[in-house]
Amino acid sequence: MSIQSNLQQIKTNLPENVTLVAVSKTKPVSDLMEAYEAGQRIFGENKIQEMTEKWQQMPKDIEWHMIGHVQSNKVKYMVPYVKLIHGVDSLKLLKEINRLAVKWRKHINVLLQIYIAEEETKFGLDEKELNEILNSEEVKQMTNITIKGLMGMASFTEDKEQIKREFLHLKSIFDKYKPLNAGNCQLHTLSMGMSGDYELAIECGSTMIRVGSSIFGNR
Ligand SMILES: *Cc1c(COP(=O)(O)O)cnc(C)c1O
Repeated sequence: MSIQSNLQQIKTNLPENVTLVAVSKTKPVSDLMEAYEAGQRIFGENKIQEMTEKWQQMPKDIEWHMIGHVQSNKVKYMVPYVKLIHGVDSLKLLKEINRLAVKWRKHINVLLQIYIAEEETKFGLDEKELNEILNSEEVKQMTNITIKGLMGMASFTEDKEQIKREFLHLKSIFDKYKPLNAGNCQLHTLSMGMSGDYELAIECGSTMIRVGSSIFGNR
């Protein structure tokens, strides 16, 4: 199967309110260009340097999403062009993103990553930490960011029931905090679902899926 037909296949069955992020990490620019030529404009990368190199080489109407874990000291390298940062999991990181966005006169959208996996290995906030961030006066004063939604990763398991539980848990948190929407807190996006589980994620309320290997092949 070609990249173009893989994309076509995924898009045919995608509900209108669900956005597809093509996760292109480790793949060469020629593969990304094949997806671009098939109409894809949103790409997700998890390493800043790789994203920067691809950004330099590719058309400028692409939306670049950072989907990986972000260290505060690396934010400066992506602020000039990143559109959405999916994995924000601390107040410290949020502060640094806003500080640099102010400096560069940019506006940056972020998703707060929530810890939903029953296994112990993933990054993310728990509900208490999320609540603190969304109610923080300091966050409300951040002029150059918008919190656009939440992101989560399910456990790496074959157990569909477990994955479903984790997705539904995230969806319930999303629905619970949405009424707080005001100012720079605008929870509209729920980023969950990857190649192996995006159909289930959509059933559970995902509005943004991050799909890599089903488009570009195994890494
Ligand atoms: C790599 C990655 C994906 C895509 O994974 P696939 O299984 O290849 O679709 C999605 N989200 C995150 C955070 C990733 O790191």
